[in-house]
Amino acid sequence: ADVGAETAATIARRDRLLGPAYRLMYERPLHIVKGEGAWLIASDGRRFLDTYNNVTSLGHCHPRVVEAITRQVATLATNTRYLHDTILELAERLLATVPGTDLAHLMLTCTGSEANDLAYRIAKVRTGGTGIIVTETAYHGFTDAVSQFSPSLGVSVDLGAHVRLVPAPSAYHAEGADLADRFTRDVEAAIADLKRHGIKPAMLIVDSVFTSDGILPDPAGFLKGAVAAIRDAGGLFIADEVQPGFGRTGKHMWGFQRHGVAPDIVTMGKPMGNGQPIAGLLVTQDAVAQFGRDSRYFNTFAGNTVSCAAAVAVLDAIEAEGLIAHAATTGKALRDGIAALGRRHDAIGDVRGIGMFVGVEIVSDPATRAPDRALTSRIVNLLSDKGILISACAKGHNVLKIRPPLVLNGEQVDMVVRGLDESLSEAMAGG
Ligand code: PMP
Repeated sequence: ADVGAETAATIARRDRLLGPAYRLMYERPLHIVKGEGAWLIASDGRRFLDTYNNVTSLGHCHPRVVEAITRQVATLATNTRYLHDTILELAERLLATVPGTDLAHLMLTCTGSEANDLAYRIAKVRTGGTGIIVTETAYHGFTDAVSQFSPSLGVSVDLGAHVRLVPAPSAYHAEGADLADRFTRDVEAAIADLKRHGIKPAMLIVDSVFTSDGILPDPAGFLKGAVAAIRDAGGLFIADEVQPGFGRTGKHMWGFQRHGVAPDIVTMGKPMGNGQPIAGLLVTQDAVAQFGRDSRYFNTFAGNTVSCAAAVAVLDAIEAEGLIAHAATTGKALRDGIAALGRRHDAIGDVRGIGMFVGVEIVSDPATRAPDRALTSRIVNLLSDKGILISACAKGHNVLKIRPPLVLNGEQVDMVVRGLDESLSEAMAGG
């Protein structure tokens, strides 16, 4: 794509300085210099509606978080080896969001990857096993251990010999099937296969909205049988709430709560500090007792006073602004608007999601439901040219992933629907 001389020069400089492993989004990469609310502002003054960023879930540069960070960083930035009240307040506040579970402790990290890495270490110590069950196109993080159970990284990254994949349940591709029963059987088969290879199961870990698998939240409750199966096999159940957590599903604070299950460990990250790097996990006393006796845990930056202040401010804002209920109603309006487009655009095979999370499956033929990866990518790029940012996910790279900040308003919903309508028309016309 023609990106102009200035952007081309910045891209070349970036490649030279940062090396070959980084990727940019969009055919015409964006040079963003400022964020406010749902908006990102580019160096040339163009404004982009950010309906993709799941980190700044309260909106970019949320005043409450900015104020909390600023005040704390000007007062004290230290680590978890001193007594400090804010981390304890954060733990109390987070543990209050998980009634009906045995989750008892908070441990903090800087990234979701580290949280899942730590969860796996804890699961190994608790169970004496190493086996892991994940969904087919899951992403759980970048560390060596976690990349081995992140199949969405692709064939270039080795899956561990101790890892088994199960399909994520898709109502669109298995109409009429009992998805709960199917998922339970798949997990049971994976457990049996681990055992046949002499591998003791340590954990089943799932993102409870199955983001990378294509955003598959339904039916609520389908995780129950699989959770019972992993427990029967001596393994732990880990809910990876990096994507659905902090109210995005629009009814509960956490995605697993829709399924009526009680995890041994809940990992979280992304929106936890609205941009400040803070992540972590909640764990039961039973799961972490031996790990705590055997090893100490210290992570230099994790749980620092500034990050904790940000996370407390995030919890305050979610409550004060009623963002969970807002995510439910505004997210539904967005899904309804896109579903209405489906009556005019055959390429829209399915519109689904929960709360402020929308997946739109793009197909080349509504009868066969065959994925259309090229069209999906075209739509994502046409939308970014129109100032609306989204991305794609799923095994076939053919599901539009729309994940706006929880503060999205009705006018912005209309912008997304209109932009998608135009982009579909242009893409189908060969634009
Ligand atoms: N788990 C899930 C479900 C994720 O989506 C991600 C990040 N995309 C991670 C874990 C890893 O988080 P981080 O990038 O903060 O390491």
